[in-house]
Amino acid sequence: MPQNRTYSRRNRRSPYVFIALLLILLTAALILGARAMNAWKVYEAEAAVTPVPTATVAPISVTPDPFRVTPAPTSPPTPAPSPTPGLLNSGSKGDEVRRLQVRLQDLGYYHGSIDGDYGTGTKTAVQTFQKINGLDADGIAGQLTQTLLFSDQALPAPGPVDVLEGDIPLLVNSANALPDGFEPADLVKVKDVVGSLMTYESNSAQAVREAAEALKAMIQAAVNDGYKPWKLREAYRTIADQKRIFNNRVNKYMDESNLTRAQATARARQSVADPGCSEHHTGLAFDLNVPGEAFGDTAQYLWLKQHCWDYGFIMRYTDEKSDITGITGEEWHVRYVGVEHSRKMRDLDYCLEEYVEWLKKQ
Ligand SMILES: [Zn+2]
Repeated sequence: MPQNRTYSRRNRRSPYVFIALLLILLTAALILGARAMNAWKVYEAEAAVTPVPTATVAPISVTPDPFRVTPAPTSPPTPAPSPTPGLLNSGSKGDEVRRLQVRLQDLGYYHGSIDGDYGTGTKTAVQTFQKINGLDADGIAGQLTQTLLFSDQALPAPGPVDVLEGDIPLLVNSANALPDGFEPADLVKVKDVVGSLMTYESNSAQAVREAAEALKAMIQAAVNDGYKPWKLREAYRTIADQKRIFNNRVNKYMDESNLTRAQATARARQSVADPGCSEHHTGLAFDLNVPGEAFGDTAQYLWLKQHCWDYGFIMRYTDEKSDITGITGEEWHVRYVGVEHSRKMRDLDYCLEEYVEWLKKQ
């Protein structure tokens, strides 16, 4: 009887056992298949991002630059956890652009509004990101750019630089360019510091705080001596501003004088510094002006030329030194270097190029 019962139970159970085994086998096959698919996807994704071009970027500075960030991603970037991004370019609009702007902002490249509009500001931010990260800086957010941008391999924009640090004044000229994304630390609105001692071409003009405070002391002294009025024409200028100014000038020459781009660029260089090569990027330079007059003909200029040295400023571009500076006389342009340096430069009669060279030999 027990035997019989066992036998009959076993007999009844056998189809279920068979179905269960079948299910287990099917599940195992599914799991293995999915794993294989996954491995293939990972391989494909990695294969798509392997060609990271690191050698395509041409160095902009001629001499070694202490602020230059070396873009050297050592391993291929981790693919973005999002679906394959579409190409974004000037004129693109929408949520993908918004997402791009947020990421560029997080990394310190973008300071405009998150409006989903791929305008000049977004393009410049993409270009700077590309340069610093060793990509071809075309300003187009293609798949490679977006993959790197959204990965944790993305290098952030370099932080603000203390431009008054160190024993040697910061030298900026056509042979000593500042890197893309360069930004001086401690910028303030000049008007907030100097106030009503002068008028301003732009109320939002900025400069490094210490330079703005020295400017205030200097203008106050001039006014006390009876030399006024003064106007601030220009102070800090970003590298993006300089790019815009330079390109406008090139386009103007191409339109007006029917020049090729290369010819127009060469001509623009005679009057506008290349982006990165203007002293105005340092936040330490000011263009002063007397409304309605050529500054070089004014009593204010004569006062400035005599006294600026005692307030930490130098007359940066004079005709006498133009063969060294490469720039013809600009009576209106003063540069803050600190009073210790400015007095020494006056006594030695050195322009900044000569002085920096001299300091390095000391
Ligand atoms: Zn200037």
